[in-house]
Amino acid sequence: MSNQTVETVETVDIDRRGLMLVLSSPSGAGKTTISRAMLEDDDRLSMSVSATTRAPRPGEVDGKDYYFMEPVEFNLLVNRDELLEHAKVFSNYYGTPSEPVREALANGNDILFDIDWQGTQQLAQKSGDDLVSIFVLPPSTKALEKRLKSRAQDSDEVVAERMSKASEEISHWAEYDYVVVNDDVDRCIQEVKAILQAERVRRIRRTGLLTFVDALREGY
Ligand code: 5GP
Repeated sequence: MSNQTVETVETVDIDRRGLMLVLSSPSGAGKTTISRAMLEDDDRLSMSVSATTRAPRPGEVDGKDYYFMEPVEFNLLVNRDELLEHAKVFSNYYGTPSEPVREALANGNDILFDIDWQGTQQLAQKSGDDLVSIFVLPPSTKALEKRLKSRAQDSDEVVAERMSKASEEISHWAEYDYVVVNDDVDRCIQEVKAILQAERVRRIRRTGLLTFVDALREGY
């Protein structure tokens, strides 16, 4: 008989509150690609689907990419206080429905937001420590313009408008907890994943720590 001992690994699941991970950047800096990659292999993370008065782009799906609606319907959500934040971006209205966010946080799940600086400021005021914000910078203005043009979903006029707004959006970089530069998308995704991983184990979110440590100290 072998006298080798088999070590069993004890897994410990400590309760925690979910967090709100915000990604902001000028349009075309790669937020959508990063967001998709973040959601791919992470079942504790889901995307917040915003309401918007913007018309759908080719391929966009109602209820998945956005809840597309008329201004009257959007105003109804605002008046009923059903949006956690809302803002006018490029002559359209965008807003975050509150209920899915509240539910996810309470269940210890995390939510990813692709929203602008105005929405991030509103969430920062309302959500305090639940919020982790990341600003994504493009490697250069030229690269940003190239990406906007190659997307081929928007007219020249819209591309020009988005380029002219890029500098204004970028000016808010210092209001964010983290800043990443999207020169290499794979590295950028790894950086955002590392931020999420570290933020998940922050003491302030881990509501189950006290009970766990008390039990440890009592010898369990
Ligand atoms: P797009 O029209 O390209 O999908 O988005 C335009 C801008 O609106 C992006 O910068 C995006 O982050 C922002 N945005 C999308 N949804 C929301 C939202 O719910 N709230 C706010 N404040 N901004 C949003």
